[in-house]
Amino acid sequence: MDLARYRAALRAWLDADADADTVADTGAAPTAADDLNRRVVRTRRILGRLWAADLGRWGWPERAGGLGGSPLLRAELGATLVARDLADPGVLAMIEVLAPTVIEAAPADRAAEWVPRLCSGAEVWCQGFSEPATGSDLAALTCRATPVGGDPATASAFVVRGQKVWTSLAQYADRCVLLARTGPPEARHRAITAFLVDMDDPGITVAPIEMVNGAREFAEVFFDDVVVPADRVLGARDGGWDLAMRILPYERSTCFWHRIAYLEQRCTRLAAAAPADDRAALALGEAVGAVHTLRARSRATLHRLAAGETLGPETSVDKLLVAAAELATFDAARALLPGTVELADDPVAAVWRREYLYSRAVTVYGGTAEIQRNIVARRLLDLGPEG
Ligand SMILES: Cc1cc2nc3c(=O)[nH]c(=O)nc-3n(C[C@H](O)[C@H](O)[C@H](O)COP(=O)(O)OP(=O)(O)OC[C@H]3O[C@@H](n4cnc5c(N)ncnc54)[C@H](O)[C@@H]3O)c2cc1C
Repeated sequence: MDLARYRAALRAWLDADADADTVADTGAAPTAADDLNRRVVRTRRILGRLWAADLGRWGWPERAGGLGGSPLLRAELGATLVARDLADPGVLAMIEVLAPTVIEAAPADRAAEWVPRLCSGAEVWCQGFSEPATGSDLAALTCRATPVGGDPATASAFVVRGQKVWTSLAQYADRCVLLARTGPPEARHRAITAFLVDMDDPGITVAPIEMVNGAREFAEVFFDDVVVPADRVLGARDGGWDLAMRILPYERSTCFWHRIAYLEQRCTRLAAAAPADDRAALALGEAVGAVHTLRARSRATLHRLAAGETLGPETSVDKLLVAAAELATFDAARALLPGTVELADDPVAAVWRREYLYSRAVTVYGGTAEIQRNIVARRLLDLGPEG
């Protein structure tokens, strides 16, 4: 399936979709919590229908229930759904990040069983990496997985104890890709193992955290002696760091393409609402320019991914450009819709406010802007070690 044919087939299917009216809902939800619930439900439903119609299966390997083809097809799918308000880029991102990782790291028969459930929206998964004292310095994580019987090489199960935080969508999640320590703290990244944990396992408690915009998008997750079978190890035992590093290309490619579709749509919406004057043209021009710069870079990254290249530290540039574009878009909204973000009570203003506030997180999640600049300085520009 080539991209042009896929695009045409997808659009034709969506245009004819009899169910679309009950799913597409661009109106403002009464509260941030309702809004998030609706976005999760809407995304899962459309993914389920597209999977059943086979259109959701392109771009995923056949060994994981897909129909094969380039990841460009998945990029196109997500961007089209986001542009039509049929899916949320944050919910799609979790799929784009975790499904390829599990396809690479899990035994083939398990990946074939698990991945279709995620990609078809039947399940939601979350990513349990960050901890209260461990974000940028992930190698310092302390959530521990102790092998039953003492020997990690032969243990039939691990007992997990510890806490994760900022775990996006944890309260909706059926499973969690978890990083836990399986050796001494001083071994740092060499003694971390990745697991796929069922979120309804006894001993797991999820405590949603309210963000500044009122949504409860992420949560604290507590693991109190949770028994995880050894066949839930992803990749090698003590190989969790390698898995975390392999996630990187997926965090910075297809899901950025989906986010670009969201930003383009918001720029269009803003252009329709902003006054028709020079000041608006300037602010909008800056936002559209930033989004387009990101798009040009991201397109090249996607094509490298599709060509089978290994993506690496150069994707920190993509992450910095996402941050610049999202901040510019919502800075423009705040400047051009006076009082909307700060004061107005109407439902449309509430959405601009929520999204403006959420946009401030873009320099934090998925690796902070400071860390990305360090990577650019040290690994791309060879400017020497951190001072
Ligand atoms: C909306 C959102 C969703 C998230 N979802 C998830 C998720 O699903 N799963 C998950 O595991 N995590 C998630 N996170 C957590 C995210 O990955 C971390 O917040 C991020 O890695 C930063 O870690 P931290 O918050 O501990 O900040 P810290 O690492 O403590 O950093 C604090 C500040 O110090 C700066 N800093 C730290 N080290 C350096 C350095 N060496 N040089 C220069 N500056 C430095 C940072 O840039 C930052 O400004 C999410 C975060 C947000 C905001």
